[in-house]
Amino acid sequence: MGAEATRAAGPTTTIPIPTTSTWDAALSQFHGAADLLGLDQGMRDLLTTPRRELTVAVPVRRDDGRLEVFTGHRVHHNLARGPAKGGIRYHPRVSLEEVRALAMWMTWKCAVVGVPFGGAKGAVVVDPGELSRWELERLTRRFAAELLPIIGPKKDIPAPDVNTDEQVMAWFMDTFSVNQGYWVPEIVTGKPLSIGGSRGRSGATSVGVMHVLLMALESKGLEPTEMSIAIQGFGKVGAGVASALQQAGCTVVAVSDVGGGTYNGNGLDAQALLQHRLEAGGGSIVSYPAGQRISNEELLALDVDVLVPAALENAIRADNVDAVKARIIVEGANGPTTPAADQVLDERGCLVVPDILANAGGVTVSYFEWVQALQSSLWTEDDVSGRLRVIMERAYEEVATMAKERQLSLRQAAHLIGVGRVAEAYANRGLFP
Ligand code: NAD
Repeated sequence: MGAEATRAAGPTTTIPIPTTSTWDAALSQFHGAADLLGLDQGMRDLLTTPRRELTVAVPVRRDDGRLEVFTGHRVHHNLARGPAKGGIRYHPRVSLEEVRALAMWMTWKCAVVGVPFGGAKGAVVVDPGELSRWELERLTRRFAAELLPIIGPKKDIPAPDVNTDEQVMAWFMDTFSVNQGYWVPEIVTGKPLSIGGSRGRSGATSVGVMHVLLMALESKGLEPTEMSIAIQGFGKVGAGVASALQQAGCTVVAVSDVGGGTYNGNGLDAQALLQHRLEAGGGSIVSYPAGQRISNEELLALDVDVLVPAALENAIRADNVDAVKARIIVEGANGPTTPAADQVLDERGCLVVPDILANAGGVTVSYFEWVQALQSSLWTEDDVSGRLRVIMERAYEEVATMAKERQLSLRQAAHLIGVGRVAEAYANRGLFP
């Protein structure tokens, strides 16, 4: 997290916006696209200034009777193409500026895959590992209640992100429903099937990562069965990617979590890793007996064909990019590659499938879940997986074609398409008043 500063790079706006490296990264990617689109200063200001930001106090009664106040944020970055959509993160070092960057990426991501949402993100500054289940429930319910003025099925539909899951979404949905006085499943996505969740949502981000990787391999004439894969982050996205790529015939040689990683050149078994973690009481996968313990930095430097960063931002940076040997990087996480590292990878000929395309499977199936809840309809697993595949493959094709035609990286092309679609929405809607 960087210091607060008056924004020097980018456009001058009437609202001074504090900067962090993540926000700077999002801004620099935006301006690259804005330059290519020839956007004027006013449109740049409109597209970079968050529509609204809410910071709330989240008082929680701890199990021992103490009162503790946490801070929560929700940012609506842009609503030109639909209601706000984005995950909720629980993390001890999350900041408003980081949430703002993540919300901006959501805006472009929804536009890249063509789902009718604007971009949002939310967070509570908390280490959920230090809370009991009851404390986590009270924190979630109070945060949901504090967001009531700005959330709603047609206003803002939250979803899980880092350290939040189906259970958190269930509490969120219940809190909203109790306040409305009736069942409102369309208020969140990524909730359990028993209360209106969608088939295929829990694995959707990971399956989307697999689809774009298979497209990338095909474009390079590479066979999935010959690919070695390293995955940083073994959470909802990373573990699902390991499973999906294993089923696609790839060899997953390394995975990691916040505690470190495990490596086996002959391949790791995703199911066995999950089972091991379960039996070990939910801790780190570093003690997995069929693998050799490695650090996260060693994982990033492995001589593999494909690297999937699926943890947090800024994993691949100027100071470690020289060690990265993968020929293809598919960004399961949001913002894992800094712009400086991105440039080095591009010059080296490493194909980077960017976050706003690669991990868009999650928001795509969230859209399916929202539609089903609004219509009280139930789609089959095949409905979901078939439609997800069509959308991911079409989005990859559009981005890859744009990249080829304009001689751009996939990230530049994805931003050109995403930012362009939001600018077009403004051109059609006009400006009130
Ligand atoms: P998660 O909380 O389920 O898992 C995060 C994983 O990253 C865990 O294994 C954790 O141990 C690991 N991790 C955390 N800090 C780390 C560090 N410093 N070094 C190495 N590993 C670390 O979260 P998730 O939902 O899987 O999200 C992961 C990333 O994917 C985030 O960037 C998130 O924004 C993005 N994403 C998630 C979804 C989704 O549907 N959940 C959709 C799109 C993008």
